[in-house]
Amino acid sequence: MSDETSRTELSALGEFGLIERLASFITLQNPSSIKGIGDDAAVIDPQGLHQVITTDMLVEGVHFDLSYVPLKHLGYKAVVVNLSDVYAMNAQPQQLVVGLALSNRFPVEAIDELYEGMLLACKQYGVDLVGGDTCSSTSGLVISITAIGAAKMEDLVYRSGASDNDLLVVSGDLGGAYMGLQILEREKAVFKETGAQPELEGHDYIIERQLKPEARQDIIALLKKMEVKPTSMIDISDGLASEAIHLARASGLGVRIYDAKLPIDPTTYQTARDFNLDPTTCALNGGEDYELLFTVAQADFEKVKGNPSLSVIGHMTSAASGYQLADKQGGLHELAAQGWDAFLQRDREA
Ligand code: ADP
Ligand code: MG
Repeated sequence: MSDETSRTELSALGEFGLIERLASFITLQNPSSIKGIGDDAAVIDPQGLHQVITTDMLVEGVHFDLSYVPLKHLGYKAVVVNLSDVYAMNAQPQQLVVGLALSNRFPVEAIDELYEGMLLACKQYGVDLVGGDTCSSTSGLVISITAIGAAKMEDLVYRSGASDNDLLVVSGDLGGAYMGLQILEREKAVFKETGAQPELEGHDYIIERQLKPEARQDIIALLKKMEVKPTSMIDISDGLASEAIHLARASGLGVRIYDAKLPIDPTTYQTARDFNLDPTTCALNGGEDYELLFTVAQADFEKVKGNPSLSVIGHMTSAASGYQLADKQGGLHELAAQGWDAFLQRDREA
């Protein structure tokens, strides 16, 4: 869509021009999307299903740093983090609306790039962009996305449904997005000081985990195929420890996680070591992995065990046992919900 050498001021196009231009890139693909961009509001046919609605706001300087995040990646990620929340309800996302606050620092070409990323994610996950709002901003870029999904009532999975002794299962691997961010931050600091080009080689996997995360649509499909309905579920945006505690608290239970069972990719492990960080701490508290964390009944153990996309990392306990981390020697520690922000803060202070 965009030619990087040209710069078209937003004012040359105007808000209506911009919206018309966006609309021209979009064809609706879901039968539930009745009316998209172009009227006062979008129209959705729930088709007898329950609708699932979630919204996320991304603020420049708070949630992203445009000095190392390309706009196309930002658009992709902004959509994916919303879809991840819909999958975490065991629902299928179908529509999106996008609110944008833009300063005149962004030319039309930049908006094109942002939408290219958003529309790529829409295509990847079968979602329609059906509307939004555009306004001006005196400082940075703000992106607010609302995703709308659908599910049969009996398929919905809440955080609150876990029972004592249910197994705690996580998809994929953990800590990668956090280590990718460490690499990007380090290279940005080196560039500021010396002007040296970023040294990103050998870190492709973790940088992709940070810049281009995916929502685990495939895990929702896998569970359906295996005929396993999670008893509770959440997506990992803030870090495993904090999300596990959310499941436990919402279900009125405790939780125990086994350190030795945490899935950590070798590149994540090595990079953590290189940064003098404990890989286990990164897996527990590094955020933005967008994996799914869920509980299943003990009776489903045979179905989930040995699946390369799933790791059984612990189980739910009585509320009285609290939130625990079992180490490799069998010692029990309190599982601390540092979460993503606190973790970053502590790292900066260290
Ligand atoms: P109103 O003034 O009634 O809010 P707008 O001019 O803002 O109407 O919006 C007109 C149409 O364009 C609507 O369908 C709206 O959803 C869509 N739209 C506006 N901004 C965006 C955007 N940033 N991305 C996608 N669609 C948008
Ligand atoms: Mg509007």
